[in-house]
Amino acid sequence: MGLAASRYLTARSIDHVVLERGQIANSWRRERWDSLRLLTPNCQSRLPGYQYEGPDPDGYMTMREVIEFISCFALLSSAPVRTHTTVTCVKRTDAGYEVTTTNGNLRCRTLIVASGACNVPSVPSLSQAVPQSVQCFTPFTYRNPNDLPEGGVLIVGASATGVQLADEVVRSGRPVMLSVGEHVRLPRTYRGRDVLWWMDASGVWAQRYDEIDDLTRVRRLPSPQLIGTPDHTTLDLSALSAAGVELVGRLAAVRDGQALFSGGLRNQFALADLKMNRLLGTFDEWARAHARDAEVGPPERLEPTREPAAARLKLDLRNGEIRSIVWATGFRPDYSWLDVPVIDDKGQLRHDGGVVDAPGLYALGLPVLRRRKSTFICGAADDARELVDHLAGYLATRAKVRS
Ligand SMILES: Cc1cc2nc3c(=O)[nH]c(=O)nc-3n(C[C@H](O)[C@H](O)[C@H](O)COP(=O)(O)OP(=O)(O)OC[C@H]3O[C@@H](n4cnc5c(N)ncnc54)[C@H](O)[C@@H]3O)c2cc1C
Repeated sequence: MGLAASRYLTARSIDHVVLERGQIANSWRRERWDSLRLLTPNCQSRLPGYQYEGPDPDGYMTMREVIEFISCFALLSSAPVRTHTTVTCVKRTDAGYEVTTTNGNLRCRTLIVASGACNVPSVPSLSQAVPQSVQCFTPFTYRNPNDLPEGGVLIVGASATGVQLADEVVRSGRPVMLSVGEHVRLPRTYRGRDVLWWMDASGVWAQRYDEIDDLTRVRRLPSPQLIGTPDHTTLDLSALSAAGVELVGRLAAVRDGQALFSGGLRNQFALADLKMNRLLGTFDEWARAHARDAEVGPPERLEPTREPAAARLKLDLRNGEIRSIVWATGFRPDYSWLDVPVIDDKGQLRHDGGVVDAPGLYALGLPVLRRRKSTFICGAADDARELVDHLAGYLATRAKVRS
């Protein structure tokens, strides 16, 4: 996101620098498991003035390809990036902000926080009660199934990360139990097109934050159950169940060495099926209203998620059945370096569409920041352009006040 902003700042001749603690595309290099591919198709790898132009627009990039894609964008846009420069503190001054880094200090009038929404895996505090004999992993420490001890694996969380890891780990021959809470079910393809093509084409992804009724809830929605594979597989809970993954309810507590799961699995399935069908209905309406029906296949509906015959409510974590737990329970941003009073009691930045609650301070890359697609690569351009417009207006107003 920082590189997208840089592109627009350059276009407006606004002097700037992009600070990066690692190398370009650092998160994709250091914070992803080995087999991960993007879940967005190649045709949606779009940054300002730059997009995927290879032979497979419907394919999904490997991490190596993502790193190459982003690095090429940085090079082509001559982004002024200072790599291996960690921002350790940002404070307000009369004129703007003072930025302390591991590579010297800077002063700036405006600052864009584009440090990412997924800096730290979010692990629930109940994890502290897990017995020592069970090894715990997060998506940052898990690289591939060989990292896990032999034996059963409990994966907590059934969003994109959880379902992808459950699929990979069960294929490695280990028994896998997947704890399922609220989730977003989507088929990989719908009416012959990638489901994310529909999100894009129908305008659902472009829906603006100020048009969404329950913005706080929508900003907290989990990522969709999707995987990017060469054969465009749908990876839903029925598929995982068929592959041998044992589904259990939401992990509610760990007490006296026992993991306790909620009994609401059937409701979670029904809710996810209902929401998915509602979304598919929106796509159908859009295709009809825009005379696109002839371009795509006929409307389809998926089978309801298959319920396991009996879901366990309790699991003894001490008896050796489960040797490791992977916490696929989401991510959160890290603002420990931001010494400006703009963080709420949930650890989130206070902002209105990326305009942070402090003069000249902006944010990019947060969930539904300005649009539903704001955290995706294809969401960077629109958000960055609009926020750089705002930033330029802010600088111009300040210049007028000073003269
Ligand atoms: C597992 C996973 C899979 C994903 N899959 C997809 C996908 O398929 N398609 C898609 O479009 N999106 C996907 N995303 C979302 C993806 O993170 C965003 O699309 C994109 O990377 C967000 O860009 P960003 O610049 O906001 O954050 P990041 O890519 O995280 O970049 C932030 C940068 O800031 C740097 N940084 C952080 N703190 C500091 C500091 N204090 N000082 C200096 N530098 C700092 C980091 O090193 C990092 O390079 C996925 C995310 C995750 C976690």
